[in-house]
Amino acid sequence: MKEQASEVASNEEFIKRLKNSFNGRFIEDENEKAPFLFDWRKRYKGNALAVVQPLSTQDVAAVVQCCLQHKVAIVPQGGSTGLSGGSVPNPNGRAIVLSLVKLNQIRQLDIANNTITVEAGCILENIQQQALANDRLFPLSLASQGTCTIGGNLSSNAGGVQVLRYGNARALCLGLEIVTANGEIWNGLRGLRKDNTGYDLRDLFIGAEGTLGIITAAVLQLFPLPKNKMVAWLSVNSITDAVRLLALAQEHLNSGLSAFELISKACLDLVLHHFQNSKSPLDKSSEWNILLELSSSESTHSAQHQLTVFLEKALEQGLIQDGIISQSEQQAKQLWSLRENISEAQAKEGKNIKHDVALPISKIAEFVESTEKQLKQAFPNIQLICFGHLGDGNLHFNVSLKNSLKNPAAQEQLLANQEAINLITHNQVAHLNGSISAEHGLGVLRRDEAARYKSKVELILMAQIKKALDPFNLMNPGKVLHPDLLI
Ligand SMILES: Cc1cc2nc3c(=O)[nH]c(=O)nc-3n(C[C@H](O)[C@H](O)[C@H](O)COP(=O)(O)OP(=O)(O)OC[C@H]3O[C@@H](n4cnc5c(N)ncnc54)[C@H](O)[C@@H]3O)c2cc1C
Repeated sequence: MKEQASEVASNEEFIKRLKNSFNGRFIEDENEKAPFLFDWRKRYKGNALAVVQPLSTQDVAAVVQCCLQHKVAIVPQGGSTGLSGGSVPNPNGRAIVLSLVKLNQIRQLDIANNTITVEAGCILENIQQQALANDRLFPLSLASQGTCTIGGNLSSNAGGVQVLRYGNARALCLGLEIVTANGEIWNGLRGLRKDNTGYDLRDLFIGAEGTLGIITAAVLQLFPLPKNKMVAWLSVNSITDAVRLLALAQEHLNSGLSAFELISKACLDLVLHHFQNSKSPLDKSSEWNILLELSSSESTHSAQHQLTVFLEKALEQGLIQDGIISQSEQQAKQLWSLRENISEAQAKEGKNIKHDVALPISKIAEFVESTEKQLKQAFPNIQLICFGHLGDGNLHFNVSLKNSLKNPAAQEQLLANQEAINLITHNQVAHLNGSISAEHGLGVLRRDEAARYKSKVELILMAQIKKALDPFNLMNPGKVLHPDLLI
């Protein structure tokens, strides 16, 4: 990285200058800083000279300029729900946390263009509600939507449960406003669906996990509200049948198919155990279940007909064993909650090793079968918690221990084997031409493993982009790319 004579001020002097450089909240008290120094899973803990919460894009630019002048690293942070440790500062180092949560205004709603312009700290759920209040849908949907921010969603290119129909965060974003590592403001808030005027800078910042610049605002696409939403819970014998069922659903439900989620029996049992109000949708549960959502612009009658014809075909072909269709919004929510509560149920159960992998859909059954076999040969006591967005080829393939709730020592032992478990899982992902991070990003969790599976050319190109946009490596250093790659 570039050498430059910086104004080396003491930490105290830097803090004094930073405090006076912007409008917003400045936190330096250790107790008040503490909640900003952890991730959601409490796997990472860092340190920071201060936490700042600017009120405007100009304030963000002023913070970046002050940090640049004194060569202090900046860790952007939204709701800190990320699962790869990207929003946590490094334990050692001279850094501040730049929390965007006070930059939370809806700037513009353009109904004719079907777009909404929002600031980075807007909570995802608030954007959805704002869209709804204007008879529009903002389809990005995650279990963490009550806490995560759109800046975090875009920076980690979040996926969620509607990708099958509407695409991931990247696909939903038409324009960005960025504070660059240089402290300049780039206003790229264009609500255009077509713009071929050179390199796509917007796409560089999306998914960059805060390592190239700060997202301060975004133009997002809105969609007409579906007239009907119907949810079905279906039991299937195998993942192979689930994949065939997906093809049948795509054929019969067309673009109305908005979610196709795979849920193993182990996941369902975990949710039923930890959420007292939940109940099993079917009398007899099978090894695998599908939660399918139809979002239709047709009348209720014809949407029901479409779904019925599809289910009859599926039964005829022996692809499903049993199933129910939601009869009310309330029932649809109950079925969704069984899917959405899996992450929390796992957290309540204890430690587990998460894998967020993407595979060609045609390879998913082979992946699960072969990886489970290899893992169980090496670690006979493990239990797989496997669920995910089958329609996107994205599995959450998590490894835990059987009945380990009251056995912290066993859980620690599981974590001690993390590296070996990751190696087996991710080698198999690579063998099947998949990706070791489908929607959670690399952060620090997957940074070095990604380097193992990416080609040298890809790594060099990534490092060149980083060096060009952030020559002093101040933007979320240590995340995505190992510092050694930046020398
Ligand atoms: C219960 C639960 C369920 C989840 N389900 C899903 C899911 O289905 N799909 C999915 O994709 N993810 C999921 N996640 C992960 C997480 O919610 C998403 O990654 C979310 O998009 C992170 O948003 P955040 O505001 O919390 O970002 P943070 O965690 O605060 O940050 C994430 C990354 O973005 C950077 N960043 C944050 N804001 C900015 C900004 N304004 N400018 C530049 N960089 C920034 C941070 O430095 C960090 O590297 C889930 C998490 C939980 C806890």
